[in-house]
Amino acid sequence: MSDIGQPTQLLCLSCGNLLSPDEVTDTCPSCGSNIDVDELLRLYDYAARVYYYGHQYRLVYEEQEHSEQRTRHCLQFAGEAFAWTMLAVLSGVVGNAAYDLVKVIVTKIRKAVADGKVNDRDYSALLSLSEDELNDLFCSAKSFTNDMDGLTKEVRLAIIEEIAVDAMTHQPQLMAQMTQFMKGKKLGEKNKKKFIELLRATVAQQQKHIHPKKGSLNDRWNRIEPR
Ligand SMILES: [Zn+2]
Repeated sequence: MSDIGQPTQLLCLSCGNLLSPDEVTDTCPSCGSNIDVDELLRLYDYAARVYYYGHQYRLVYEEQEHSEQRTRHCLQFAGEAFAWTMLAVLSGVVGNAAYDLVKVIVTKIRKAVADGKVNDRDYSALLSLSEDELNDLFCSAKSFTNDMDGLTKEVRLAIIEEIAVDAMTHQPQLMAQMTQFMKGKKLGEKNKKKFIELLRATVAQQQKHIHPKKGSLNDRWNRIEPR
């Protein structure tokens, strides 16, 4: 997969401002709220993966369903501004933020991006995001965080395959077995079963690893002024 990596900015989960990491010690310079940077980076990683697998791949594989051709895609991650946007969306999907509040945060993120706060790449697709596209982000987040509910079997399997392949690149032992498997060397029924179990465990472990603690996206954005 394209590497998600570390973001260049941090999002305050109280006031929704994007902050430069050197401005942040343990409090937000804009609103004074505490920021647990380690936790924030874990949430960022989670949101980035939900965006990458649950939205980017969902769109290409759903599109592909209407065509005759079946190809595997290898997508570049769309960038941190989309991950922060997805984190805002997740605060209303996994967390308890109201839709209107999420929209306020998304608008703030887009404004910060328009002002050049995040400039690691071109974000015109985010700046021109329509209401329908924002709703589609909600659909992706809801589906991905709910065992890919609502997706066709083909799309779901294609996404699982992407996650598995990416997980394998971090597991040399599994990678070696997979390579042997691909080369057509017979694994034997017993080894094949073992291999599939290993693969399943790897995917489950990876998903568990990135999933945030229960409630960690609840009661966010408490420094947003009443509208
Ligand atoms: Zn703040």
